[in-house]
Formats: sequence, structure tokens, C-alpha cells
Amino acid sequence: MLKLHDSRLGTLREVKGASSGRVTLYVCGPTVYDVPHLGHGRSALVYDLLRRYLQWIGIEVVHVSNITDIDDKIINRAHEQGISWEELARTYEEVWWKALESLEVLRPTLAPRATDYVKKMVELIDKLIETDHAYVARTGVWFDSESLDGYGELAHQSLGSLRAGARVDMDDSKRSPIDFALWKFAKPGEPSWPSPWGEGRPGWHTECVVMSLELLGDGFDIHSGGMDLQFPHHENERAQAVALGYEFSKLWMHHAFIEVGGEKMAKSLGNFTSLDDLISTSDPRAFRLLVMRSHYRSPIEVTKVEISDATDALGRLDFLARRVNEVALDLGVDLLGADGTMNSSAYQDLGVTLDPIIIDEFKVAMDNDLDTPKATSIIFENIRAANTLLDTSEDTHDQSTLKSGLSKAISTLEIASSLGLYPKIDNSIAPPNVDHLVKERERARSDRDFDRADKMRQEILELGWVVEDRASGPIVRKVRD
Ligand SMILES: [Zn+2]
Repeated sequence: MLKLHDSRLGTLREVKGASSGRVTLYVCGPTVYDVPHLGHGRSALVYDLLRRYLQWIGIEVVHVSNITDIDDKIINRAHEQGISWEELARTYEEVWWKALESLEVLRPTLAPRATDYVKKMVELIDKLIETDHAYVARTGVWFDSESLDGYGELAHQSLGSLRAGARVDMDDSKRSPIDFALWKFAKPGEPSWPSPWGEGRPGWHTECVVMSLELLGDGFDIHSGGMDLQFPHHENERAQAVALGYEFSKLWMHHAFIEVGGEKMAKSLGNFTSLDDLISTSDPRAFRLLVMRSHYRSPIEVTKVEISDATDALGRLDFLARRVNEVALDLGVDLLGADGTMNSSAYQDLGVTLDPIIIDEFKVAMDNDLDTPKATSIIFENIRAANTLLDTSEDTHDQSTLKSGLSKAISTLEIASSLGLYPKIDNSIAPPNVDHLVKERERARSDRDFDRADKMRQEILELGWVVEDRASGPIVRKVRD
């Protein structure tokens, strides 16, 4: 059973929903006013690993991640660019989804926009005022943090130390420096929504409470985000829910930052200026592998050296996949699709079963607070072991060694794919001159110039490669010596 570190209690706890086959997960999403940075990428990948693993062990995951599409930063940036806040927010929302797609991150089951829930937010704030947990002041509506027993539980701090640490530039309409905004009255020219207390817009902390409770119901399994959200964002979300008698989230999961040279990632320090910079200059799978190699609660470094090292490791995964695929093709079995996904019944056609030891070790690691570093080492240790067995079987022609090698290889590909790490077996592995001829041949075939296509096939063969036409498109493989 999956256990995760609960930031509130500071211990590992079982994810309750996993035993009933359905896990509800809320991930605080981006404020869409700029291009995503590497930290956003790590965040998306961490929860993608969690979700993919749960789905792989047969659990349904309802994954909600919001889009904060109204905020001071959005208003200011739109003003600078001379466009509407809606246009700016929609533009960067698109950029966000595109970046996640490049990283092969699964889209959330639901991705609510904050501005679609303003009415519900007003209702929630109204209830907080009614129950004396909130008050109307000059600049907006504030939550009375001191009214709630246990405020500071997520921060692991007393009211006194929170008060001492609060920002000094306190708004003079607040009763206490630790009170936070639920509703901000609109300044002239700002976007606003109606409310019983005056035109304005909701505070960020109120957005997530409403959207999570509305879409997942009370007592959902996991509420998550970066460690910087633990306080004040998550503390303040929780305070509103608890004040109204909700259990809210059963477990709080927080991931660590990206660091460069031991410092928190900042634009001026990074050698990748944005997530897009990384994705467009390297194999996006390398970032996924880097994220897997570190525990989600530890900071990671993402430098060009780290990315290039991860890319080399991916080469070993790809090599094994191509090798197994060739063996399978020789035996008349189409094992891997062009996108690297495994045809799940195909390995049975090879008379091979998954290696229960590899699968069990992998599950034990993942169930232990998502120990992806351990899971990754299981993948790469077994890549080595599978290659050794396949080498031996080539020398000895021993069928049982071949079967063990295939079983180890297929199990390894299976667990790697379960975390979204798919091998590349497409024709991009061929040298560029071969790749060029393959594309030329495709053009000839689509022009129905079959004489020319045959000539191309011959030229490819003379270079030591054979081209095969599949339903998913042509693939090339090296001719055995
Ligand atoms: Zn949130």
C-alpha cells in the first residue's frame, strides 16, 4: 500500500483512497502570467509520476489542478503589454499545457479556472463572516487567523512565532499581522466581480479551497504542491476549510525545489532560462529521468551536465528496447509500438512472463513515499543484467538464457513505462543519411513511385539497414552481421 510523507503530521501515512481503488488528488496549479520555469516542470513531473504509478497498479486517480487566471501579477503584466487580463491569462495557459505535453505529463482529470468559481468563493467567504472567522475592513475581507484553534499546524509554528515572523508592511485594516485576504476590493480600472461587501476579486487562498472541495468533495486524499506553498498558502486554505467544519485534505504532500549551485532556482542563476529552453534543446525524457533520480522531497540540480548525463542513461534504455524488439521481430512478434509503448499481450506471444522479483522490488520502492531514486536504480541495474543474459544467449544459443534475458528486459521496460519513461525505438536512431533515405522512400511511396521506393530500400540496405513498413509507419533496424 502506498505511503506518503504527510507534511502536517511529519510522518509517513497510508493513502487511504488507494485501498478503495480511487485516489483523489489536488495539485495547486500555476498562475498564468509568464512562461513556465524549471520548477513548474518538476512539480508537474512529480505528480505525474505519482499518478502514473497509481494508475499502473490499477487505481483510478481523480487529479484536479487549477489554473489561477486572476491575480495582481496577471493584471500588472496585461497592463504593461496593453492587452486584457483575459487575453494574457489564456495565452499563458496555452503555453503551460504545451510545455506539459512536451514533457509527456498527463493532463489533469479536471483543470478548473479560478474565475469560473467566483460565485462559490463569495458564498464561502460569506459563511466565514457569519461564523466570525472573517471580517470586512477598508481594503477587503480578511480571515481572522487568531479565531481558529490550530492555526499554524502546517507551518509547525505557534501563533506567537507566526506573528513575530509576519511581514512588517502590514495593512492597517488588518486586526492581526497573520490575517490574510479572502476578498480584495477592486481599485479603479481593475477586473472585479460583485459581492455583498463590494466589487472585488477573491484572494488566492480562497480559490483552491473552493475548487478542491467543489470538485473532489470533503476528505479528499492528497493536497499537494511545492514546499513554498506549505505556508502560508496551504495553511490558509486549510484554515478556511477547518473553520467551516470540513476535514479538507487527508494528507499534505510537498515537493522540494530546483537548485543551481545549492541555491534556489532563479532566472539569473540558471543555465536554462525557461522550461521551453530545456525542452527545445534536449530530450524532454532527460528531465523526467532527473526528477526520478532524486526523491521528491530533496532539492535537485538541473544543469546542462546533469541533463547530458541523463541523456546518456536514456541511450542505455533505448538500446535495450531496440535489442529486445529485434529479437522479438526475429521471432515474429511485434513487441513495441513506434512510440515505445509495449503491446502488453505481445510478450506472452514470446512465451515470456514478467519477472516477479523486479516488479515487487519496484512496487516496494514506490510504495515507500514514492522512492523513485530506488525505482530508477532498479531499472538501470536490470538493464545491465538483461544485456548480460542476452549477450550470453547470443554466444551459447541457449533458449532458457534467452527467455530469462527477455523477461528481465521486458519487466524493466514495463516499470520504466509505468512512470512515463518510454524508450525511443523510432527511425531517428538510424544515422542521418539512412534517416534521410527513409524519408525519401516515404515520399516516393506516397507519390506511388514504387520503382524509386524500391531503389531507396536497396540503398538503405547497402548502408546496413533494413526498412520495414508497419501500420504505424516505417521502422529501420540494423542488419545483423
Ligand atoms: Zn492552491
